[in-house]
Amino acid sequence: MPELPEVETIRLQLTQLIPGVTIKDIKILKEKSFSGDKKLLFGATITDLLRLGKMLVIKTDKKLALAVHLKMTGQLIFKSQKTSEDLPNKFTRVIISFTDGSKLYFNDVRRFGWMKIIETIEDLKKKIGPDPLKVSNSQFYKILKQTKKPVKFLLMDQEKLAGVGNIYACESLFLGGVNPNVSANKLTQERSEKLLDSLKKVLNSGIKWGGASKQNFRNAYGEKGEMQEHFSVYGREGEKCLNNCGGKIMRIKMGGRSTFVCPVCQQ
Ligand SMILES: [Zn+2]
Repeated sequence: MPELPEVETIRLQLTQLIPGVTIKDIKILKEKSFSGDKKLLFGATITDLLRLGKMLVIKTDKKLALAVHLKMTGQLIFKSQKTSEDLPNKFTRVIISFTDGSKLYFNDVRRFGWMKIIETIEDLKKKIGPDPLKVSNSQFYKILKQTKKPVKFLLMDQEKLAGVGNIYACESLFLGGVNPNVSANKLTQERSEKLLDSLKKVLNSGIKWGGASKQNFRNAYGEKGEMQEHFSVYGREGEKCLNNCGGKIMRIKMGGRSTFVCPVCQQ
């Protein structure tokens, strides 16, 4: 699933491509993937893009915005030409055409993703926690103190902290030397600071490498990211720990999700 770095990668790229272009038409190929009256956006010019956790918000000059959640397998691919050889494909759910002939394709294999016309971002903001890249040490420590749940679940709880999913939760817990099963409220202030620092590092690394394309993720140009080549634990089951601690990376299940952990380094 695209997480904060993947969505941020798309946001950064689309910010170079679509502000200033005007929506001419929206073709909805799968009703479920789009909510709102599409005609309201015809003639609207894109002004800005922002990210709320794992959501992307495309703002326009019409006091309306288009919120996008990629969920499991969503892709948002921009093509400057009127026609493209490889798009639309059978997973294309929505096509946004701009007056200059360029197009934005929303593809989604699993169809859990969505596009929604919104008037304000406030309602979306209310449902999610702060952005981990902007959260302070004291704020993060307070969030940890609120729950006895395993710290990994807390990192992935969008209402507490918005943007982290399975991959970056595993990577940050490894870098922070924290066992994913430890109760969140048991972490000391010192360990909490180290964990937040690790989380920020792995998220920034994910952005630097253009996201992780272990599965379906593609950037706004339709290309793969490279973060998967820089994972420390994720998908490295049975391999030697990179810290040379002598341990081997194990895969455990937590809440039905594969969790990668070094039993020596993460206590
Ligand atoms: Zn280790």
